[in-house]
Amino acid sequence: MQNHSEIFTIDVDKDGIAILTWDLADSAVNVFTEQAVIAFEEAINALIVDDAVKGVVIASAKPVFHVGADLDMAQNMSTRSAPQLFEDIMRINKVFRAIETGGKTFAAAINGHALGGGFEMALSCHARFVVDEPKLQLGLPEAKVGLMPGFGGTQRLARLIPLVDALPAMAQGAPLSPKKALKLGAITELVSYENLLERAKTWVLENPGSVQPWDKKGFKLPSGKVHTPANFQFFVGASAQGRKATYGNYPAPAAILEAVYHGLQMPIDQGLKVEARKFVSVAHSPVARAMIRTLFFGMNDANALKRRPQAPAKKTFQKIGIIGAGLMGAGIAYEVARSGIDVVLLDVAQEAAEKGKAYSTRLLDKAIARNRSTEAKKATHLSHIAPTIDYQALSDCDLVVEAVFEAKEVKEKVLRAIEEVVSAETIIASNTSTIPITQLSEYIEKPDRFIGLHFFSPVEKMPLLEIISGQETSEATLAGAFDLAKALRKTPIDVNDGRAFYTTRVVSSYMAEGMALLREGVAPALIENAGKLAGMPMGPLRLADMVNLDLVVKIADQTKADLGDAYQELPGIPAARRLVELERLGEKTSAGFYNHEAGAVRLWGELSEEFPMADIQPDVESVKQRLMLIQALETLRCFDDGVLKTAEDADLGSILGWGFPPFTGGIASYIDAIGADNLLSASQGLVSNAGVRFEPPQKLKALADAGSTLHAA
Ligand code: NAD
Repeated sequence: MQNHSEIFTIDVDKDGIAILTWDLADSAVNVFTEQAVIAFEEAINALIVDDAVKGVVIASAKPVFHVGADLDMAQNMSTRSAPQLFEDIMRINKVFRAIETGGKTFAAAINGHALGGGFEMALSCHARFVVDEPKLQLGLPEAKVGLMPGFGGTQRLARLIPLVDALPAMAQGAPLSPKKALKLGAITELVSYENLLERAKTWVLENPGSVQPWDKKGFKLPSGKVHTPANFQFFVGASAQGRKATYGNYPAPAAILEAVYHGLQMPIDQGLKVEARKFVSVAHSPVARAMIRTLFFGMNDANALKRRPQAPAKKTFQKIGIIGAGLMGAGIAYEVARSGIDVVLLDVAQEAAEKGKAYSTRLLDKAIARNRSTEAKKATHLSHIAPTIDYQALSDCDLVVEAVFEAKEVKEKVLRAIEEVVSAETIIASNTSTIPITQLSEYIEKPDRFIGLHFFSPVEKMPLLEIISGQETSEATLAGAFDLAKALRKTPIDVNDGRAFYTTRVVSSYMAEGMALLREGVAPALIENAGKLAGMPMGPLRLADMVNLDLVVKIADQTKADLGDAYQELPGIPAARRLVELERLGEKTSAGFYNHEAGAVRLWGELSEEFPMADIQPDVESVKQRLMLIQALETLRCFDDGVLKTAEDADLGSILGWGFPPFTGGIASYIDAIGADNLLSASQGLVSNAGVRFEPPQKLKALADAGSTLHAA
């Protein structure tokens, strides 16, 4: 037998129960590698024929149970030929079927996350015992990276739990908590950590020769046969809903639906083949390739701090100062305290600082109400946050970040006050979303220690941290910012200074283009739908309302003041100016391009009086093209200006920062997929129609000349 000691151990106890304990060497988690699959296959086959073994418990020695295929396997899946990939998948399916039908009883003892292929392995066992820990995740999240379950997940889950629960769990990839999984019937029992293994062993002993429900004669699907009037309606509805949610841009959810629909009409062995075929076509789609590259590899590299300067030693954080306890400061304080780091939360009045801390109290109370936290955890979390008005409290902070009003004079006062009290090693940061870091660094005596840390709102939900180096920022400060991202579990991207940096700059171009189209007489509903059809989370006018139109105008005015004669107002901005004149400021006044009333958000009926609609409307494709190309061109300009350094950061920042359609793999992948040549001619074509903002950037011309791509360059 292949040596499996680096992958899992097998111990047979006095009762003849074999415990197969996953413990993959040199890895924080258990995954299927190519070698692990072979070793697992051999081990299962050997256990089944070993007369000394009565049954098997699959367990884990790591804090997670098993999280499915590893990075290399996922990459190989998209490059291997279709017949080869089909064969590989069926080989794993055969192992799981051996677990089910080999005559021995198998149970999974799930002590931590069981996701993807790891959960599929557990589903093939005759019983699943799970530790009653609310944060433990169970499920099939493959669709989140453009894939679908391929090791029997669609077939087993839909045979175990009702369709109404099984399909969304797979199509959206949202994990199930142990309690929910138990309620639905996806697992057997909840147990404590201490009793987990014993309970699983006892069950195996008490249930020799177990057979899966679907291998028993007379098995009935939990939602009944596929072709009942109710299920017919369900599938039609689910298909329509899926289309509405994805606009047909994502192949995985539709393929999951088809695998379930067809697979449930057949015996499981045939169903597994249907799933495997669907899996191959999804894995080979450009969408899966792009999503895996960015959301699997790109994300992992970023989270492993691959782009951090290597030389500076790792910075650790005991205490962090936050100035400004408003929306952003309060959110950052919550995140810092959550990571076990002390926070000094400073505002102009004690009451304001306390209010910032109360934000954490509210979030924690909500978490407790949802069974996701405890009073004890809340007390610890809150004990880290010290609200104050006293700058001296910052003296021993490792890092201080300001999140005060977006006004240079306020920031100047605050930055100077910070530097007066902190030590020479303290990193000073700004959470500004638009003011160039190099400009702010003029207020700092040691500007090498100054950096931009652009958090997104709501901080506790948004995973991105845009790190902005000013001209004087040192490598050590940049490295420290990466270390902070890691400590706070944020995904960092590393950009250079420039007006509005990267994410705010590009997303602003989307909003401005929507407003430009409006001023040209394009129907507002057409503009908004074109944005959504292209895969953006919302139309550009809705987004402008969310940002609030007075802020859009304020940023334009500030840019104008800074640039002087060089300022050229984008043709969309006057639309925002007009609405501000009408006191329709956006969401905050419940009125902007939309009327925002509880439960009903509708385009403002009188928009067409302000912006008369043209008699002849453009087709939706050309509106989509304008809204997407302007973002692509602005991104390329960020490369021209040295703001963006890598295609990987462009991709991640676009998806995590402003919801650029994930199915593209991010904006750099989107540009590469169109091809520099095509993008060049499209942008040249738009210059005469729409304006000089479609002028091709240098980077685009260079890529087209070289026949290259952003990812290859
Ligand atoms: P906010 O108005 O909610 O909060 C600002 C806080 O700063 C207030 O509590 C105020 O009392 C305090 N403050 C003002 N002057 C101060 C001073 N001199 N000393 C101490 N505290 C002072 O603003 P916000 O939305 O949290 O934005 C803060 C910063 O974060 C801005 O630079 C903004 O551009 C940036 N930002 C905002 C967002 C967002 O979505 N709101 C996103 C990213 C970055």
